[in-house]
Amino acid sequence: MKIEAGFATDVGRMRERNDDAYLIEPPLYAVADGMGGHPAGDVAAQLAIATIEGLFKQGKGTLGEQVREANRIVFERSADDRRLSGMGTTLTAALITSEGAHLAHVGDSRAYLLRAGALRRLTEDHTLVNRMIRAGEITPAEAERHPHRNVLLRVVGTEPDVDVDEDSIGLLDGDRLVLCSDGLTGMVAEEQIQAILETSGTAQEAADRLVRTANRAGGIDNITVVVLDVGEGDGAMQPGAGARAARPGPDRSTLLRWAARAAVALAVALALLFGLRAFVESQWYVGIDQGRVVIYQGIPAEVLGFRLSHVEVQTDIMAGDVPQIPPWDDLERGLTAPSREDALQIVGEIDRAVSAAVEKGTT
Ligand code: MG
Repeated sequence: MKIEAGFATDVGRMRERNDDAYLIEPPLYAVADGMGGHPAGDVAAQLAIATIEGLFKQGKGTLGEQVREANRIVFERSADDRRLSGMGTTLTAALITSEGAHLAHVGDSRAYLLRAGALRRLTEDHTLVNRMIRAGEITPAEAERHPHRNVLLRVVGTEPDVDVDEDSIGLLDGDRLVLCSDGLTGMVAEEQIQAILETSGTAQEAADRLVRTANRAGGIDNITVVVLDVGEGDGAMQPGAGARAARPGPDRSTLLRWAARAAVALAVALALLFGLRAFVESQWYVGIDQGRVVIYQGIPAEVLGFRLSHVEVQTDIMAGDVPQIPPWDDLERGLTAPSREDALQIVGEIDRAVSAAVEKGTT
């Protein structure tokens, strides 16, 4: 398989320095977006890129292992030098082999694939807003204006270890792969990115146009774009690779990813369940049980046939004696109280009202 690479990086129109870094070391390509102020962000991005490049040239480890090693090295360097404390970087790398592209990814830089007129995002942003979108808490449109839209949940170099997303895709003749920093995707909508990729002749022209467009849109961040065009050529795809690309089956990393997602879903369900239970147990109300006024812990409701409350305090006040005036006329439905003490106080008031009514009746 033959790869034609184009790339462009630019400081943008607002920043003073370019803390992005990139790697064009065929067949390994990467983009890194450093963070942590001067000089830390720059150091983190360059160090991460240099580490995977060095390990790759020595033939050491898989791409995922190389990224984890880059994490360790950036982390140790930041611990050694106070000026670099807290530095980190995104890292999105693609290794092209006869099998296709192997991707390793941490952070909010992205990889895209343009194939047959469709643009597919290949990476997941490790950002707070992306997690909120996935949890259904905000919409993608709200995420774009969210005050914490730049908060990263996973970065290379800020912790001793890092989880690296890995994926493998088959490549076809005519595919166009893109690696980019958020200086592009934060400025240019995906539809526009797709339009530029579809209408640019060479990979280099596509990279240049994408950076120019991000700058025209404001260029508030550093912008880095690597474009890889896949063509038939020397070392063409191995027999069968095309079939795999057209009909990929779940490989081991896909299965692991599904298992991880199932575990997350289970954890969320358990958290909701325990959260619901904690909430229910913090609620109180005064109601009626077997004709007497009682205090319930929980809420006056049922879910799937389960009552969400139980009798906590019994009294000898007959419900029939309680005056049918507000607020006591709601007793049957339950008089809610913020705490056990408040519920006891309500019972005290009911008791006094009942005594007063009984006295009135008997006199
Ligand atoms: Mg950036």
